[in-house]
Amino acid sequence: MNPYEVLGVDRSASPEEIKKAYRAAAMKNHPDRNPGDHQAEERFKEAAKAYEVLSDPSRRDAFDRFGTTEAAGSFGGMGGMQDIFSGFGLDDALRAFMENFGFASAGSRSGAIRGDDLVVKVDLDLQDAVLGGRQEIEVERNVPCSNCSGTGADPEAGSDTCRQCKGSGKVASVRNTLLGSFRTVSNCPTCGGSGSIPRKICSSCRGKGYEKKKSTIAVDLPAGLSKGHYIRLRGQGHHPGQGGVPGDLKLLINNIDYGPFSREEDDLVYPLTISYPQAVLGAEFTIPQPDGDSTGIKVGSGTVAGTRLKIRHQGMGRLNRRGRGDLIVEIDIHVPSRVKRGEKDLLKKMEELESFKVKHR
Ligand SMILES: [Zn+2]
Ligand SMILES: [Zn+2]
Repeated sequence: MNPYEVLGVDRSASPEEIKKAYRAAAMKNHPDRNPGDHQAEERFKEAAKAYEVLSDPSRRDAFDRFGTTEAAGSFGGMGGMQDIFSGFGLDDALRAFMENFGFASAGSRSGAIRGDDLVVKVDLDLQDAVLGGRQEIEVERNVPCSNCSGTGADPEAGSDTCRQCKGSGKVASVRNTLLGSFRTVSNCPTCGGSGSIPRKICSSCRGKGYEKKKSTIAVDLPAGLSKGHYIRLRGQGHHPGQGGVPGDLKLLINNIDYGPFSREEDDLVYPLTISYPQAVLGAEFTIPQPDGDSTGIKVGSGTVAGTRLKIRHQGMGRLNRRGRGDLIVEIDIHVPSRVKRGEKDLLKKMEELESFKVKHR
């Protein structure tokens, strides 16, 4: 690894320039910002390694002179992963497994690798959207391997004591951070803090420590959700295996079936078409309610098209607030496109009636 190339700085770069380049690379490739993107994760680790070297004057000097990123007496936790493993005569699969394992201790702030988030789309029917309620949701996610309990190691083959930490699981190292140098004790990068190295990887999960599993989970959804809303269930996403912690499950509200209604924020609008005589004389109607009931409504005499009648507190439940919006009945008036001969005569007579004349001012 050439730390100058990794951070994209000149060999003559000042400590300030190096710090700036590292900060930019770390921000851009941070695992929290790029969930599931393993290339970004690799770049994030590379940048950290490069910064460890270039921020330490003696290691920078050693690299400038000898082209190596390993300072004499260093614990090798950073920068030399391949070299550490090559000495153990491990096969490739086991080495890959151990590298994952090592990252579990060094890669994330909490000290444990975090699984990927899982996004599941959820469709809602009207009653669930209006009142909220329990949903059964099918998910397929990575769970700890049942054969090895998530360790990734063959449970029958046993393990050897880790040579780097001599079984303690801890190593001391000097870390150079943006805030200065610290002497820290951290999980051993070779064994990931377990103190032992498995002799064989689990044949069921090939060392990953997880397997796919379908399950149904019950979730209580609040009232008043809209398309595009997310519900985040912490720790219900993919499990990364190997002592890590699961990511989150994000329920993405997809389609909501509003039935005969249309939604205006917390209100629901029901279109009601009435006849012309009903508009003139007034009438009573039965209106479906979004919660499955029905209610009567009175349309007064002389109602014009476009009139909105309000039935209070029968609309959508308000998200994260108390109460409900309104049910609005919007009146339209039916105009027949064709009439029969006798009807036409009647209409002609109506046309002459005083009350039916349109008075233009
Ligand atoms: Zn397994
Ligand atoms: Zn160890």
